[in-house]
Amino acid sequence: MTPGSYRVAVNAPLREVLTYLPPESGEALGRGQSVMVPLGQRRAHGVVVGHDENVSNGPYQLKAIYGASEQRPPLPKAYMTWLEWLSSYYIHPLGQVLDSVFPPLARNSRPSTVVKDHRVRIPPPPLTAEQQSVLGSLAENKDFQVHLLHGVTGSGKTEVYLHLLEDVVAAGKQGLVLVPEIALTPQLIERFSRRFPGQIAVLHSHLTPREKTNQWWQAVTKDKKILIGARSALFCPLNDLGLIILDEEHEPSYKQDEKLKYHARDAAIVLARALNIPIVLGSATPSLESWNNVVQSKFVLHTMAQRVNARAMPDIQVVDLRAEKQTRRDTPSRLPFWLSQRLYEELQAVFSKNEQAALFLNRRGVAQTAQCKACGFAPECPNCSVSLTLHGLSHLVCHFCDYSERLVEICTNCKEGPLEPLGLGTEKIEADMAALFPAIRMARADRDEVQNRAQLEDLISTMEKREVDLLIGTQMIAKGLDFPYLNLVGLVLADVGFHWPDFRASERSFQLMTQVSGRSGRQSPGRVIIQTYNPQHASIEYTVRGDFKGFAQLELDERQVLHYPPFWRMAMMRIQGVDPDNTKQAAQLLARRAQTLQAQNPKYAENLQILGPAQAPLFKLRAKYRYQVMIKCDSAQRLNHFCRQILTPLTWLPSGAKVQVDIDPFQML
Ligand code: ADP
Ligand code: ZN
Repeated sequence: MTPGSYRVAVNAPLREVLTYLPPESGEALGRGQSVMVPLGQRRAHGVVVGHDENVSNGPYQLKAIYGASEQRPPLPKAYMTWLEWLSSYYIHPLGQVLDSVFPPLARNSRPSTVVKDHRVRIPPPPLTAEQQSVLGSLAENKDFQVHLLHGVTGSGKTEVYLHLLEDVVAAGKQGLVLVPEIALTPQLIERFSRRFPGQIAVLHSHLTPREKTNQWWQAVTKDKKILIGARSALFCPLNDLGLIILDEEHEPSYKQDEKLKYHARDAAIVLARALNIPIVLGSATPSLESWNNVVQSKFVLHTMAQRVNARAMPDIQVVDLRAEKQTRRDTPSRLPFWLSQRLYEELQAVFSKNEQAALFLNRRGVAQTAQCKACGFAPECPNCSVSLTLHGLSHLVCHFCDYSERLVEICTNCKEGPLEPLGLGTEKIEADMAALFPAIRMARADRDEVQNRAQLEDLISTMEKREVDLLIGTQMIAKGLDFPYLNLVGLVLADVGFHWPDFRASERSFQLMTQVSGRSGRQSPGRVIIQTYNPQHASIEYTVRGDFKGFAQLELDERQVLHYPPFWRMAMMRIQGVDPDNTKQAAQLLARRAQTLQAQNPKYAENLQILGPAQAPLFKLRAKYRYQVMIKCDSAQRLNHFCRQILTPLTWLPSGAKVQVDIDPFQML
């Protein structure tokens, strides 16, 4: 029997790894080996992280490992290093981080039919000069390096990825391609699998557990050479990974907001470093984090400024809604309040030419609600501090917890006034457009209409077959989708994001407007109309000029002054509980603990700020009260230490309250 003891990270909410005696079988277990261990009265999965010559059992009687798990292959060394980094950086139990690597079911040999096999390989088109030059500079180095591919929408980035992957596969290695979940359409998978017939595995959240398990094994055993997936595909341990590509790197959906709150871009970079391989980040609107890394020469920049086939960039016009309002005061209009004369005329022109148009509504913060005409009361969700959203004519729904109720005719507050629709939603836009243009065919794309992949597919296909003249959608369709016949895009109200309580609000607005604009005119030069009450807002001015660099510089300067990321780092401590007083008290205790820690330790004196406790903007969510304490620091490492010191031990926390830490948070609500 192997002497000594093993340190095992057990799949349980434990901050420490546990010590076990070797299994009775006597087999030696390497680091990264999955094992079954006793934990209390139950059996648990764990992964061996180390072996000690000595047995130091302290006050406890050590138990023995049951044995190696046959269902789980040993984790490669670089992945172990990376998973330990994730656990430490995001302050999340190592055993749980390690467990997220494995597929949901046991392996079996039933074939998987997730990706259609194409026998014929479609040859690539001849590359444009820009594509060629970018490929040349990307291919120079096979060691770790972060490349940022900044290419305008339609510049042919995906074609560059396909070429890079050809080299990787030719060298006998594997490639990993990460895209936002919404962009992972059959169109995209089809494009890859036609270039690499029979060599594609796919992982995303809409697969069944059986499909996920099969795809996982096909990638891990190198049966498939290329894995395309949403952010969680990063956790699939590929033994021979040669390249990581992460498209639309600015997408906030790369950040996971629950459990292990990792950012897939940052995590992918650390993985690439552990494996000593290159990583390519692609975007038309890079995140300011990545752009700052270019400015500081940590990332290598590659630019593609032209659309393929010399297609023109869309023509973007801004409509000042303040002036529109003034005009209507003088001469009343038959148009709905949200539709300017200018946009109306553009729509008319497009429909008369049988071209397609789309209207986008940034849903964050706008919705159709109901309000009492007499007392102003608006029905709220009983579980969350938000107004209920009106659906159709009769349903009120909460978008956070799915609570719903029927719309009553008489206000429950004053028992007098009638409840009437207020605000703007996609349904209202659809109804207004139907009244103005009775002959046009419309499709709506929002969270209610498009709830799954099949519905998204249907939508894309009706657009491609030109069975729809007008698409009305929320930001869910602003990204990653290509509609070849779309020639006019109207952004109904650009201002919605401007006053959001989020330091990224301006950046998000710029990204959204630029991405939405990019949907227009894939075939012929398209037009974009942005309606706004703030035409002078920087994010609009720079969008119209197509000046990403100018916008980035302006915004970075501001963030630097205000000590925001990417200059300082941020951690959000969230405290929540069912009792408002108890939760508030817990938040105050946490803040006091943080202040004491800072006062006692000179290394936190100058370069760390504690903000709060404050009620979260969404004070009540799913029947829990929420407070937050934000901590900003000029160093990620110091911030990490500081948060750990607050969280360990947690004995100060009143029972009933829970605290969670979110490192580099995106969710500010
Ligand atoms: P991006 O990913 O930058 O938005 P894509 O790679 O999807 O751009 O390219 C946009 C369109 O141009 C696609 O329809 C693609 O098939 C086409 N395309 C890309 N590269 C070329 C090329 N070198 N020659 C002809 N068409 C191309
Ligand atoms: Zn709710």
